[in-house]
Amino acid sequence: METIIHKLCEYQNNRIFIKREDLLPFCFGGNKARKAELFFKEIDKGNYQSIVTYGSSSSNHCRVVANMAAAREIPCYIISPLESSKTTFNSILMKLFNVKIKVVPVKDVHDTIDETLKELKAQKLNPYFIAGGGHGDIGTRAYEECYSEIKAYEKREKNYFEYIFLASGTGTTQAGLVCGQLLNNDNRKIVGISIARKNPYGKSVVEESIHQYLRNNQSLISQKMIRQNTVFIDDYVNGGYGSHNNCVHELIKTVMYQYGIPMDETYVGKAFYGMLKYIEKENISGKNILFLHTGGTPLFFDNIKAVEKEALK
Ligand SMILES: *Cc1c(COP(=O)(O)O)cnc(C)c1O
Repeated sequence: METIIHKLCEYQNNRIFIKREDLLPFCFGGNKARKAELFFKEIDKGNYQSIVTYGSSSSNHCRVVANMAAAREIPCYIISPLESSKTTFNSILMKLFNVKIKVVPVKDVHDTIDETLKELKAQKLNPYFIAGGGHGDIGTRAYEECYSEIKAYEKREKNYFEYIFLASGTGTTQAGLVCGQLLNNDNRKIVGISIARKNPYGKSVVEESIHQYLRNNQSLISQKMIRQNTVFIDDYVNGGYGSHNNCVHELIKTVMYQYGIPMDETYVGKAFYGMLKYIEKENISGKNILFLHTGGTPLFFDNIKAVEKEALK
């Protein structure tokens, strides 16, 4: 399902547009909804009686997968790290969808997944496993398709984006977009603003996802091309996952007031802030820029008290 692109604002003489993945029409949307749609196509085609995935209590991925499983009445098992298990709107929704959650210390997550898969097989409930965050070729393909939507928009509207910015976590979303760019031989810059990982590791994971996807699709794009087109900026991760400086709240407040668009502090608000800083730092001017709003609306409500405090200042 295609999501809309609309103009947001001008910034430093650039025209900023936004693609609203947050408005994908399933369970508050977001990039995890686009990825999950493809995973469930596989599930619907195959002979599966259970689903296993993992993520924290604030995981957008787990919320969407839980809803898609519930809609099909397929039992859904989520392995969740004890270290990040506080109640959030996403975890409340997971409960509503009746998932079976196994909370274990993060060091035991891997083994618990293996055990759960084994148990389900033994019970003749053939499990379908989805990696955390929808990482892997199927998730990458979802965002190669999203890239095609962007191209269709550009052709229709005669409006070409010289930059695309997005929040990058596991890097699958970015990998998909860059695959689209490489396969179309397009000259533009896709900039992933890291929300947690530092380089060189962060960039290398995105490159590996691109490499794997292209190899599995028999494409002969060189490692050098992949390296050159993977821009993974780790300047705005602050203290890592979930940590951000106070300017992010201020910005979230402004975007909500001015444009009526919710942004969460862990992903989208943090990346939007990073994008503006990057534009300043790199003296980018006179360009058409697209920001991919990757969702996370329930997280916006988790943080609304902090944003409200900012609004009262
Ligand atoms: C998971 C997530 C991301 C990061 O996507 P990756 O494909 O893991 O890089 C960005 N924004 C939101 C709202 C997310 O939930």
